[in-house]
Amino acid sequence: MANGKKRFKAGKGLPAFLKGLSVYILVALAALIFFYQVSDSPKTDNEVPISQIVSDVKDKKVEKISLEGDKIIADLKDSDENLISRKEPGESIYKILESSGVDPKTVTIEVKDLSIQQAWAGILSAILPILLLVGLMFFLLRNAREGGSGIFSFAQSRAKLFTKDAPQTKFSDVAGAEEAKRELAEVVEFLKTPEKFKALGAKIPKGVLVVGPAGVGKTLLAKAVAGEAGVPFFSIAGSEFMEMLVGVGAARVRDMFAQAKKASPSIIFIDEIESIGRQRGMGMSGGHDEREQTLNQILVEMDGFNLNEHVIVIGATNRPDLLDAALVRPGRFDRRVVLGFPDLEDRKAIIELHMKGKPFTKDVSIERIARRTVGFSGADLANMLNEAAILAARESKTQIDNKDLEEAATKEKLGPQRKRMQSDHDRKLAAYHEAGHAIVGHFLKNVDPVHRISIVSRGMSGGHTLFPPTEDRSNESKSRLLEQIATALGGRAAEELALDDISTGATNDLEVASSIAREMVTSYGMSTLGPINIKTQSMFGIWQREDGQKLSESFQAKIDNEVKRIIDTGYKLAQTLLRKQRSKLDKVAKELLEKETLESDEFEKIVGKKKS
Ligand code: ADP
Ligand code: ZN
Repeated sequence: MANGKKRFKAGKGLPAFLKGLSVYILVALAALIFFYQVSDSPKTDNEVPISQIVSDVKDKKVEKISLEGDKIIADLKDSDENLISRKEPGESIYKILESSGVDPKTVTIEVKDLSIQQAWAGILSAILPILLLVGLMFFLLRNAREGGSGIFSFAQSRAKLFTKDAPQTKFSDVAGAEEAKRELAEVVEFLKTPEKFKALGAKIPKGVLVVGPAGVGKTLLAKAVAGEAGVPFFSIAGSEFMEMLVGVGAARVRDMFAQAKKASPSIIFIDEIESIGRQRGMGMSGGHDEREQTLNQILVEMDGFNLNEHVIVIGATNRPDLLDAALVRPGRFDRRVVLGFPDLEDRKAIIELHMKGKPFTKDVSIERIARRTVGFSGADLANMLNEAAILAARESKTQIDNKDLEEAATKEKLGPQRKRMQSDHDRKLAAYHEAGHAIVGHFLKNVDPVHRISIVSRGMSGGHTLFPPTEDRSNESKSRLLEQIATALGGRAAEELALDDISTGATNDLEVASSIAREMVTSYGMSTLGPINIKTQSMFGIWQREDGQKLSESFQAKIDNEVKRIIDTGYKLAQTLLRKQRSKLDKVAKELLEKETLESDEFEKIVGKKKS
């Protein structure tokens, strides 16, 4: 989600508040230092036994004696030193001198009235905390008034108001997504000229749900609607409602709607709306009351818009199936705009948009990048291009080249390269593992061609073999799914075959294979259980139907059996293939150990062109 950063900026009250606090701490410190300095004399003090002072008085070396309570300070005539000593409480300095045969009149004795000093200390220590508190309140209140944030205003929404002349996102900043833009153009029209619609008695939209996976531009699009219409944009993320005390979420909703109505016409954008608007009674997380209160408040607000309040609420979610029915009822979020992963044409448009302002070498082709990035979201593409620029800059290039783009694309999906100390055995395991994926995939008709094989570890994986899809598929066939399972298991099969050892490196592969197999059984009806769809989900490792109903144990067992049968079939397929291509497997593994990374052409040199 792109607005993660902005959300933190919305809490700008904090630094200011700290600044305010530090001013007061400084004032307090200065006061304390001043207070102590006043009572200090510039001479250095030297602690001595009382008898020393008495004898110095006797020798007429002492100019003056000061008494501060029981502290005796003797000011010496020809010295930079003060002699300090202490008498017993209640004893008199006159008595002490007299009893030692010294006439107290021979020396000036000054009794400092401590009570005044003590009183000052008392007053200060009583007043300082109050001063501090008052200062704190002052700053917090001022903050609250200015920015609508800070501790005392936590109940107010942290929605940010984008003034009309602030971020001017336009539809042209959203590449592709033509259909979504067309649908939202009407909302823009309405926000611009509500009278026109009202005069014709047209029903005015209140809520629009923008549905799509992370990073496909939901936020961007919502902003563009505000930008096109030139209206303020209030935004908040659903998850933010959940982070505070019970009752606060509802209060925030109320405040945000109040602000938005005041600024009408305006847009309220609620990101991750499913975290508030989940179906009641679903999920096991706590905070039910809070969520329900917040959700109810949103519904109340949306129902309560009057004719002159032109506020359109845009909610974004990647899980529309989780939304409470009340939220999508007519008059609420009754319009739906779907944003999917960009297809080839959209990717080209997005890449072109984000390439602007960056220098590229001549051989860089938008078409090629777009073909290479099937399954990338708009955010992935934007990040990739930015990353490529960083990589090029790091090598002091003046232009971004294909190598930078390739590395950036891989990094975007798999995380940065990680040089890790590996034993020879581990490297060999990794090489056979990746070679296994590549060989199995290569010799199976329906698997996409190998793009790159590497035993350089990235993120969590010890290596990778990439088969980027060469086309956007909306359908999968049973044979292709089975071949994908075989390819995923090819790594493990190769380890076993070549080294008679298996590693934990296949954990993720097994997950992939299992989930494909499970989908085949429970969603696609591709097993001996027949054409059924039993949507299941895992709750803490226990599979149950999505509507919460339990599957009977015997049925569960049947599913598990089918899943296992499919996986076994896939694994056998991989094993058979690898045995047949054993010499090529060895060659690829050997080459990988030498070069670490093989591009598609280097791989094809060993195994030949892929037959399709
Ligand atoms: P979402 O809200 O769906 O998670 P965002 O709107 O936050 O996604 O998108 C994140 C970033 O990705 C945007 O700021 C933009 O840079 C880029 N992006 C996503 N989709 C597009 C698009 N269609 N055109 C241009 N840039 C896009
Ligand atoms: Zn693997």
